[in-house]
Amino acid sequence: MKVFKFGGASVKDASSVKNVASILQSYHTDSVVVVISAMGKSTNALEQIIDCISSKQGNCTALLANLKQFHLDIVYNLDMPSALSLINDIENLFLELECMTEHGFEGQTSDYIYDQIIGFGELLSTKIVSSYLLSAGIKNQWVDSRNFILTNGRYRDARIRWAETEHMIAQRLKPLAQRNLIITQGFIGKGPAGETTSLGREGSDYSAAIFAYSLNAESVTIWKDVAGLMNADPRKFEEATLIDHISYTDTIELAYYGASVIHPKTMQPLQSKKIPLYVKSFLNPVHNGTCINQDAPELDIPCFIHKDNQTLLQCKTRDFTFIVEDQVSQIMAVLAKHSFRVAIMQNSALSFSVAGDGKGNLDAMVLELDKLGFETQSHSGLQLLTVYNSSMLPKQFANAKILVQQNTNKSAHYLF
Ligand code: ASP
Ligand code: MG
Repeated sequence: MKVFKFGGASVKDASSVKNVASILQSYHTDSVVVVISAMGKSTNALEQIIDCISSKQGNCTALLANLKQFHLDIVYNLDMPSALSLINDIENLFLELECMTEHGFEGQTSDYIYDQIIGFGELLSTKIVSSYLLSAGIKNQWVDSRNFILTNGRYRDARIRWAETEHMIAQRLKPLAQRNLIITQGFIGKGPAGETTSLGREGSDYSAAIFAYSLNAESVTIWKDVAGLMNADPRKFEEATLIDHISYTDTIELAYYGASVIHPKTMQPLQSKKIPLYVKSFLNPVHNGTCINQDAPELDIPCFIHKDNQTLLQCKTRDFTFIVEDQVSQIMAVLAKHSFRVAIMQNSALSFSVAGDGKGNLDAMVLELDKLGFETQSHSGLQLLTVYNSSMLPKQFANAKILVQQNTNKSAHYLF
């Protein structure tokens, strides 16, 4: 059994959906579970709708109408002989969304509200793809991934209840998948009270890995708009090249430091069962792409990961005590609470510095640290370059004014 994952770019319009169908057609003799993301940028559009609901500002009705039209246009352009029942499904999903926004979510946290809405993109895309495949003669079964991916109640970043999830997939989904092509959603799961939860942005790769782990699949293929895993982002580095074959460990390190090709949580479940992961281009499906598995040769090129919008926080104690375990754990708790994703940290006797993606509220974070007795300086808008498998600084950054540098045995980080 194989697991495929198609991301938003692979189903962004009608011709892309047709392309997905032709790829699936060429695998018609295999058992495949297909995990699909929301179409194009519709998760971003849903985030705007959520903002509109939470802030009670803006025109939610217009935003919903745009998103609905986007999906209906795709359906019309698919030229299906009969799209009536699909259009009904789409109308009903939007009706559900409209009712939700109208009744409001009195007394609920914003993260809870987010998770009740954000997964509609995946529900819509899978309904459309499944119907189109049927109309193109590709028999398949649409299933709701929330029946299988069971999570805790940590909204927006839900943790998998592995034992129950594995049981449900092995017992309930596997028999269906042996008979039929399965079409299901990435990114969403079900929380303890039956509510919808989400696994974090770009979490569909992780969903594919969870299905593969629980099905003991022979492989996972992530279909992307790039040729495979590259050693750098080709938009930023001229010399970027494709990596044909790489180990799980190297891929985990690269994803962890922000190589955006694969969601960082994807690799560990696959590694633990030695399930190979292929990253392939949906634009060139016959090309091999990248193979990630156990017996990859040692990586022989440097990899570069460049990230903008990084924040450096430097904390000092106001009472002249040293920064030791207690203080570090207090600081880290504040960062975790505000979802500050730490990329590098450094400590000395008198200060503790971290740098990373600060998407949360920086002022609130600094204020909380202040209350705990830390004087914190923050610098935003920085860049972080991670060089993996080398410590060489590429020539376009040779003159960068480095604020923090950190080397480990296999990587070097430069903050500037
Ligand atoms: N649609 C979700 C997102 O854009 C999940 C995913 O694409 O993996 O974040
Ligand atoms: Mg997406």
